[in-house]
Amino acid sequence: MSRKWVYTFSEGNGKNKKLLGGKGANLCEMTQIGLRVPLGFVITTEACLAYLEDPHKNLPDGVMEQVRQSLAEIERRSDRTFGSREKPLLVSVRSGSAISMPGMMDTILNLGLNAATLQGLIAQTGNERFCYDAYRRFIQLFGKVALGVPEEEFDAAFDAVKEKAGARHDVDLSAKDLAEISDRFLKVVEHSTGRSFPSEPYDQLEIAIRAVFNSWMGKRALDYRREFHITPEMANGTAVNVVMMVFGNMGNDSATGVGFTRDPGTGENVIFGEYLVNAQGEDVVAGIRTPKPIAAMAHEMPAIYTELLELRRKLEAHYKEVQDFEFTIEKGTLYCLQTRNGKMNAYALVRTSVEMTGEGLIGKKAALLRIQPEMLEQMLFPRLDPKSTAKPIAKGLAASPGVASGIAVFDADRAEKLGRTGERVILVREETKPEDIHGFFASQGILTSRGGKTSHAAVVARGMGKPCVSGAEGINVDVRLRKARIGEREFGEGELITIDGTTGSVFLGSVPTIEADFSPELSTLLKWSDEMARLGVMANADTPEDAEKAVKYGAMGIGLCRTERMFNGVERLPIMIEMIVADTKEERQAALDKLLPIQREDFKEIFKAMSPRPVTIRLLDPPIHEFLPTEQLLVDEIKQLKNLCGILRGMRVLADSVIFIDNTGEKKKQVQNFTDPQLVEDAIAKKETILKKVRTLHEVNPMLGHRGVRLGLTFPEIYTMQIRAILEAAAETQKSGIEVHPEIMVPQVCTGQEIRRVREWVEEMRQSVETAHRVKLDFRFGSMLEVVRACMRADNLAEVAEFFSFGTNDLTQATFSFSREDAENKFLPMYNQSGILQDNPFEVLDVKGVGRLMEQAVKWGRHTRPGMKVGICGEHGGHPASIRFCHTIGLTYVSCSGPRVPIARLAAAQAAIMEGQAVTDKAA
Ligand code: PEP
Ligand code: MG
Repeated sequence: MSRKWVYTFSEGNGKNKKLLGGKGANLCEMTQIGLRVPLGFVITTEACLAYLEDPHKNLPDGVMEQVRQSLAEIERRSDRTFGSREKPLLVSVRSGSAISMPGMMDTILNLGLNAATLQGLIAQTGNERFCYDAYRRFIQLFGKVALGVPEEEFDAAFDAVKEKAGARHDVDLSAKDLAEISDRFLKVVEHSTGRSFPSEPYDQLEIAIRAVFNSWMGKRALDYRREFHITPEMANGTAVNVVMMVFGNMGNDSATGVGFTRDPGTGENVIFGEYLVNAQGEDVVAGIRTPKPIAAMAHEMPAIYTELLELRRKLEAHYKEVQDFEFTIEKGTLYCLQTRNGKMNAYALVRTSVEMTGEGLIGKKAALLRIQPEMLEQMLFPRLDPKSTAKPIAKGLAASPGVASGIAVFDADRAEKLGRTGERVILVREETKPEDIHGFFASQGILTSRGGKTSHAAVVARGMGKPCVSGAEGINVDVRLRKARIGEREFGEGELITIDGTTGSVFLGSVPTIEADFSPELSTLLKWSDEMARLGVMANADTPEDAEKAVKYGAMGIGLCRTERMFNGVERLPIMIEMIVADTKEERQAALDKLLPIQREDFKEIFKAMSPRPVTIRLLDPPIHEFLPTEQLLVDEIKQLKNLCGILRGMRVLADSVIFIDNTGEKKKQVQNFTDPQLVEDAIAKKETILKKVRTLHEVNPMLGHRGVRLGLTFPEIYTMQIRAILEAAAETQKSGIEVHPEIMVPQVCTGQEIRRVREWVEEMRQSVETAHRVKLDFRFGSMLEVVRACMRADNLAEVAEFFSFGTNDLTQATFSFSREDAENKFLPMYNQSGILQDNPFEVLDVKGVGRLMEQAVKWGRHTRPGMKVGICGEHGGHPASIRFCHTIGLTYVSCSGPRVPIARLAAAQAAIMEGQAVTDKAA
């Protein structure tokens, strides 16, 4: 006995999609739960694989025999016969693998038609025109799909008859015309293949089965599997579904349509869909006639409508998921032809999750698991109106989601100036630097032509929840001319542009958008997430405004407050520069004394906004030259100021000469008002001092240079000022009755000695502040782990550090030795495309390398300090798959930019629910 290759819908296991394909399994399952499905059977994916492996491409032994047996059963039950001219049985042949691959192979309808069976069909339906139309469609589709006849050859024959008949539209063709087209099509096939069209139904069926199997290795299918990373473990081979034809075009008691068990746009619990009376499925898709909304059926075919509602109820009760189904009504009998899980937008997914749980259809875990966390992004940012047809002029990286429109502005100062007047602006730069921060505040969105997804622009914009497109390399930004060129096109300052940070697209002009809203259902879903999750979710937030937003998004605290961002305000930067260029300790202290109250006030505001949640404040991290202008800019400015000096000397000569023109002295006074060169000379002197400092501070590799704790230890006054500002702010806030829990975090640590020294300063400051304010402070002291050595010495660091936070941006950079500023735009895309690296490690945590280091560091740290609080504050803290890994290695929390907090909350819950299930192992 040969293997079992064929399963009728009554016997196939509806859960075995691997063997029967998704479509076949569902058809079996629907049949077995008592839904009316046309009779049919599935040829297994195993038969497909055996066929493809056979060097002679023979169908495996027994396949056609079992097909004949199954067809015989259908014939018995349907009272029709395959190939009969009296009561012909016609079938459809469809592909279907375990994972749906749209467009892999077209469905062949009406298989079994030939000159003889056609007459039977005409007798059965009494509709000659329909039958010839079905016949010519069958020859055309079978010819194209199963025999490889070029479509254009059919089109040419079709158009010739149409022209001859004087028909403007296809519907104007008569039965006779269609009969002629069928004849011509048969000739087209003969001419193209060198053989006559197979008229024997079993030959047709065998050819069709082979064609479906072959389509598994066709270009379309291969491309699709590559694009969507469909591995053989997920889907291997395609099944073939052979289904008895039912006709929705047999009169006004027949119809065809598609339905959703709930509205996929809103999630509302109502049947949704469209249908056409007296039509074939194809007509709905082809848009030849406008279908009616399903609600209209309540009046037009009330009895069927009631059946349809019952079908909807049964589908949901069984699949416990919103279903997208196809149906046909043949002479008053409703058939379900197909069902699958409905694709919905995030709004509908969230609403249906909450409502289906309320209805008792699913439990909370299933409600949380059925939503991909990333999809929540749609609900948190304005998005492009899907009806818009605008075409992008350039593409960059989707660096921070959301859509923003505004006029293009090419520098931060101008952005701020225009922003203050209420103008909506988009800051356009080659790349951004910390000193551009005021421009970020004033802009609706940021566009850069350089830098990756962890570039300064991307990270800051994400933190602020502003849309950002980074690394749009096709755009040539000329800041001097205030113009951006994209090939032949360009836009200048003041021109309206739109950026979509969700897709990376850039548009000229404004593109309509739809506002986001945090629905009550989303709040419910996230509340359930928090109940389920073991990981806490904190936010990366640097300002009181960001802190307020973080609370709104449900953050359990701040996991990273980057204090350097606080120094970039317009009125603060000059003080910072004063501190940097100071020659003596005293001068530096004087500048720091001015910064102290500013920082203290910031911290107080943040503590208030976050109370009673913890706030993790990181001491100054970047190299200080980042606060200074570039060398080139200073050289240019000094040159211009020097030119001005010459002009002013000329003005002085003018003032002396004016006496010969006007002896009242009035004009001389006017000119003299503009001739004081002192101011210019002072400006030159100042700029030259800064330039000298810029040159002194120059480093070949600043990201690995004088930054973080190394800077803090060289200039103790800076860290001491910051520690004091934090503790005094805590004391004052606490005294006003507000609960505060600051956490002081040291960046770039690599040795125990480094944090021991900072810890001593903290201790001294604690005593002094507690005495002065007569309060007992509750705070923690911890270290970032973003340097490989810090991970290797985690046991030692944990003797001093009360908590760790993985800075995976720097840790990824350090582990790979990839510059995070350059890699994403240079070689990473090629690495990803060619499979050298599966993902961008700055986006998706590299579990095998960086993750391994983290896992060890957690173990070593907790060996010294059991139960130690350990989190992550790099960009990966907001990435669902990375969050799952963080859960598995037992981190306490993840911290991510505010708008990603809801995504992280859901991902953290899913990680807890899926605990113990294998994480897909990717290459590299
Ligand atoms: C990190 O390195 O992961 C981190 C959070 O610090 P930054 O990105 O500010 O260097
Ligand atoms: Mg870092």
